[in-house]
Amino acid sequence: MRVVVNFELCEANARCMAACPEVFEVDDGDQLHVLIANPPESLRAKVEKAAASCPRAAIRIAEN
Ligand code: SF4
Repeated sequence: MRVVVNFELCEANARCMAACPEVFEVDDGDQLHVLIANPPESLRAKVEKAAASCPRAAIRIAEN
C-alpha cells in the first residue's frame, strides 16, 4: 500500500491526522507530512478512514 497525497488540494485541516496520526501529521506551519509512505497492512483501516474523511479528497491509496 502506498499513500499518495495531492498537496495542491490539501487545505491542512488535519482530518487525516485525527483518523490516522501514525501516517499523517500537520505541523505548526499548516504543512501536511506523510510520515509513512508505505504503511503496513495493520494500518490499512485507519488509512482508509483518513482518506474517506478528507473533505478535499486529496488522499489516494495506491496498491504498489
Ligand atoms: S484531511 Fe485532506 S485536506 Fe485535510 S490535512 Fe489531510 S489531506 Fe489535507
